Amino acid sequence: MSHLLKKFAANVSESRSRFRRFLTRVENNPPKELDNYAVAIDKEVWAETDCLACSNCCRTMTPTYTFKDLQRISKHLNMTIKQFKEKWLYKDKDGDWMNVNTPCQFLDLKTNMCSIYEVRPKDCAEFPHLTKRKMTDYIHVHKQNVQHCPATFKMVEKLMERINGGKILVEQGEPYK
Ligand code: SF4
Ligand code: SF4
Repeated sequence: MSHLLKKFAANVSESRSRFRRFLTRVENNPPKELDNYAVAIDKEVWAETDCLACSNCCRTMTPTYTFKDLQRISKHLNMTIKQFKEKWLYKDKDGDWMNVNTPCQFLDLKTNMCSIYEVRPKDCAEFPHLTKRKMTDYIHVHKQNVQHCPATFKMVEKLMERINGGKILVEQGEPYK
């Protein structure tokens, strides 16, 4: 595990419960301009984040493959969808197609690059969904991802700092604890 990911794991272990409680508060009592704040914070987060030094999402999570993903990627690999599914995927209890293994079979573990980047699943292209609207509809996603993704962790940290620091006023005018 890289130094960066070791540090991240320690931060998660220390902050997970506090962050999840904070996200629940935001979900139940969102600041009026929450979606706009998310856009501003997203820019800051990506200015400070290098995914090629991380790849923890590809190492520890699985994307969900849509039918279009299956069509596009299997064609790119000169496989049938059936062959692609049999080689790498399983259907979960909700009927979604997921990777059997982690790290993802398409991750180059030396360079942290995706070998099917141009045709990667939509889920990967949009991960970690920081500016998806409404943000309150994605809080459950952020609660899960904050344990895996340093960018999500940073986003929550920054949102907490703004709200707790009084830079963003919540409707009730009370700081989050
Ligand atoms: S398809 Fe590519 S971007 Fe998606 S999890 Fe696998 S390696 Fe990562
Ligand atoms: S999206 Fe998050 S987990 Fe994935 S590589 Fe970037 S910072 Fe790491």
